[in-house]
Amino acid sequence: MSKVLVIGCGGVASVAIHKCCQVSEVFTELCIASRTKSKCDKLAAELAPKTATKITTARVDADDVQQLIDLITSCKPDLVMNIALPYQDLTIMDACLACGVNYMDTANYEPEDTDDPAWRAVYEKRCNEAGFSAYFDYSWQWAYRKKFEEAGLTALLGCGFDPGVTQAYCAHAKKHEFDSIDTIDILDCNGGDHGYAFATNFNPEVNLREVSAPGSYWENGHWVEIPPMSIRREYDFDQVGHKDMYLLHHEEIESLALTIPEVKRIRFFMTFGQSYLDHMRCLENVGMLSTSPVDFEGQQIVPIKFLKALLPDPASLGPRTKGKTNIGCIFTGKKDGQDKTYYIYNVCDHQECYKEVGSQAISYTTGVPAMCGALMLLTGKWNKPGVYTVEEFDPDPFLAALDKYGLPRSESRTPVLVD
Ligand code: NDP
Repeated sequence: MSKVLVIGCGGVASVAIHKCCQVSEVFTELCIASRTKSKCDKLAAELAPKTATKITTARVDADDVQQLIDLITSCKPDLVMNIALPYQDLTIMDACLACGVNYMDTANYEPEDTDDPAWRAVYEKRCNEAGFSAYFDYSWQWAYRKKFEEAGLTALLGCGFDPGVTQAYCAHAKKHEFDSIDTIDILDCNGGDHGYAFATNFNPEVNLREVSAPGSYWENGHWVEIPPMSIRREYDFDQVGHKDMYLLHHEEIESLALTIPEVKRIRFFMTFGQSYLDHMRCLENVGMLSTSPVDFEGQQIVPIKFLKALLPDPASLGPRTKGKTNIGCIFTGKKDGQDKTYYIYNVCDHQECYKEVGSQAISYTTGVPAMCGALMLLTGKWNKPGVYTVEEFDPDPFLAALDKYGLPRSESRTPVLVD
């Protein structure tokens, strides 16, 4: 019996809410709150006849801590699921601390305004000291560790697929397959086709910021940064086939480098089609990916926000997207003194997801782990006071929940390695 406040009602939140409603013996009450309340009302009306979960809705601007505190005080949830945008992570964490409520999200903090001088000073120092230049990193949320510990509250960070399930796969490999891990390659393949020349699978602004940034990987105790899309490999993915994939910076590398300290190299690869890359390069060359406001006919506009308004809403891709995703981790390391390799991954079908919850597989593969992470917190399997990433908890009940609720694992002990 528990009450959960979900903030956000976009592509990922909609899947997480559908899945919570399938487990109404745990999620007895849900409040869905977002900037646009009509979207929450529409989803609540669609789900009400199909679930025993009691659903209410509210309007909230999650950039405003006081509005969040007022909402949490009136709703009295056991857990706040932040499935809005990474820009709201800190305000929602502040409100959870003020109200004494557990917190979780699916992506680590990044600022909406990357021109803010106060943020920029911290960012530039981190770029120099750490050696990677992504706008997002864990330092902002790890700074809340002591506050959450002292309040006796749990904050679970990045509980989607990647980050999220990929870290549970690492914890599983460490617990059950290896004595020590030498290398981790995280492979994210989307073999789906939505028929548009260019569209992003999740929030366009967050997605394009991530993909157009320099790539980086962890090797022998430090970051190696490379120009965007400059390392390409081809891989033959189970149930998808041959795809080109590119090395990107990704947030879970940062936490895994600390939590699996013996690891010598961690890389992250994502597949992209040529049409996506051509469009992205062109948009970047003409300045459309810029996050800095420009003056247009007497009005200030942020180019990437304007672009977002033109692109298809990722939540609308469900009916059009056909094909499968394949996301997982390949490990090398040692077990009982012998060299060993291991690959654990999930294959997910876009059309099956659409039939079940009305969304494509990218939202599905993020929303299901968000629900399963909430399930771990609400059923007492994963609560220790402080701020944690997924690999810091026992992976067994989480992976069992993923197997049960739509993202079953596949394994190979003889995978083809990435050179
Ligand atoms: P969408 O853009 O589809 O949805 C975002 C939602 O957040 C919308 O409902 C929006 O409301 C709401 N929102 C935005 N700003 C505010 C605010 N100030 N106050 C209240 N609500 C707000 O995004 P996605 O569903 O695609 O992504 C959600 C999250 O999941 C993101 O953080 C993304 O980075 C993360 N993600 C994580 C992945 C993983 O594997 N870990 C993979 C994919 C995504 P409105 O519609 O009114 O603007």
